[in-house]
Amino acid sequence: MLKINFAGIVDYSSVDFPGHVCAVIYLCGCPYRCPWCQNADVALANPEVCREMEISEIIKNLKENFIIDAVTITGGEPLMQNETFELCLRIKNETNLLLKIDHNGFYPETLQKFLPLLDFIGLDIKAPFTEKYGSAVGRDDWKNVVERVRRTCEILAEWDGKKEARTTVVPTLTDESEIIEIAKIANKYKFSIYTLNEFRAERTLDEKFQNIAPYSYEKMLNLGKIAKEYLDKAEVYVVTSKKGREKI
Ligand code: SF4
Repeated sequence: MLKINFAGIVDYSSVDFPGHVCAVIYLCGCPYRCPWCQNADVALANPEVCREMEISEIIKNLKENFIIDAVTITGGEPLMQNETFELCLRIKNETNLLLKIDHNGFYPETLQKFLPLLDFIGLDIKAPFTEKYGSAVGRDDWKNVVERVRRTCEILAEWDGKKEARTTVVPTLTDESEIIEIAKIANKYKFSIYTLNEFRAERTLDEKFQNIAPYSYEKMLNLGKIAKEYLDKAEVYVVTSKKGREKI
């Protein structure tokens, strides 16, 4: 029986697959070390949180869930594990659920194999395509990371499925000039949705980020409006603790 390194399933979410009610599967491990990461235990595959789970058990769980019409696979980074392909294949072959993957852009060639199975992809664009990307993801090899994320964007630009670019807006790393550059990237590669997510200073991978206050609601809305000026067709959303997901 094939197993996958897994942190759990949320049986019901109304926010992780826009327009649908979905289950959310958390897979462990990540090639990035974003200092502001709020899922550190999952990203680091901490054995107190992550365990090997049979893919059959996950499929059984989904089949018994009569509330959902979709599933989102997130992490960590779902494409880091080879077994994720088998999980996706079985979801498509054995259920009628729509399938979304959240991806951090590090595995373009792997992603290409997955696209025929996907209905929706959420891609992190964490910073402009400069050395700022290295600071955002906690890696020194920023040119390698940028090249991979750029290649992922190129592949997705040719794909007809629904695609969302999203950025967690982290004070000290992300402000107006970064949002403008990221919005230009999302526009160039034809993303249909661009979402700005509010940073939460809880349980961050680098403890120093727990002392950084998120931007105000008003500042987040303003950044969303600025992003919209650089996007010809994409819908723009801002997600805040005050009002949830709002269209700009
Ligand atoms: S925030 Fe960064 S380190 Fe954390 S799971 Fe996402 S990509 Fe990985």
